[in-house]
Amino acid sequence: MEKLNFCRRSGYLVGPGYTVPGDPVEFYLGEERDVVSCTRLICVSCKEAVRVERDPLPQGQDFRTYACACKAHHQYKGLRSADDDDEADPWLPWKCSGHPIATLPYNLDGVEIAPATDLHALVRRTLGGWSPDSARPEERESPLGWVIKLYARLIGTGFDQEVTLAWISTVAERPNIGALGATMLTFGAAGRSTTGRRRADRASRRR
Ligand SMILES: [Zn+2]
Ligand SMILES: [Zn+2]
Repeated sequence: MEKLNFCRRSGYLVGPGYTVPGDPVEFYLGEERDVVSCTRLICVSCKEAVRVERDPLPQGQDFRTYACACKAHHQYKGLRSADDDDEADPWLPWKCSGHPIATLPYNLDGVEIAPATDLHALVRRTLGGWSPDSARPEERESPLGWVIKLYARLIGTGFDQEVTLAWISTVAERPNIGALGATMLTFGAAGRSTTGRRRADRASRRR
């Protein structure tokens, strides 16, 4: 069976101002600084792929439309998970159908990741404060942001482990970034830890 990556909580639906990734490889692991829309939602009732309204949205429109053959949903402010069944958010018959694994060489924000890429050097440089100019602002706020993105995007390729190891050894060399290291150790060890779920839950309440 084809290996796939699945979004946390069946995938997120996002309102205006959030990212709808152009690359089907991009999914939401739950640790990234930018909560992105799932672009591979499928309807469990009609079995159709859910269409996601992409940017730019019509001027003045304050929602984003998601629709399959049997259901449509307007996502106004903020975001919600597809599995959210609050009274205010009616149940949706949609779930993430899985995202393809990245194939190398893979271009991430202008950085070509190939099997021969020195991921250790890339991680060390990023933890030192560098990130590509085309990374999203949320990902550039902290040295963690882009490393998490790099890790998430490589899940399933076998190179995600290398990112984790590079992180651990960078932290060992530079104890002053110990706090960042602790985060990654938790993150790497648990893989899909619960930290991100809490963060996303907080985000959906806040926005
Ligand atoms: Zn998804
Ligand atoms: Zn449907």
